Amino acid sequence: MRIKKNDLVLITKGKDRGKQGTVQQTINSKRKVVVEGVGMVKRHMKAQGMRAAEIIEKEMSMPIENVRLICTHCQAATRVRVETLGDGSRARVCKKCQEVIE
Ligand SMILES: [Zn+2]
Repeated sequence: MRIKKNDLVLITKGKDRGKQGTVQQTINSKRKVVVEGVGMVKRHMKAQGMRAAEIIEKEMSMPIENVRLICTHCQAATRVRVETLGDGSRARVCKKCQEVIE
């Protein structure tokens, strides 16, 4: 996965296209991400025991193809490539400005 938790991403598809948000969760097995404040859906919770019925708002996960990482250096929504550094660690590199994205 080229998107990680706490990355700032731009939504490129769907009704929230153009919005930006921080990745709250990545679901590797499904190649999906949950972005804070994006793709909100209302869930109606039934009353259970002492708890009253309520409506909660929750972010829906979206396919990773629908988001693009925003580079921390050039601030552009970009594509990244993954490079192996000299010490063997893997780093994401912005294709626009060639900087390593933490
Ligand atoms: Zn960049």
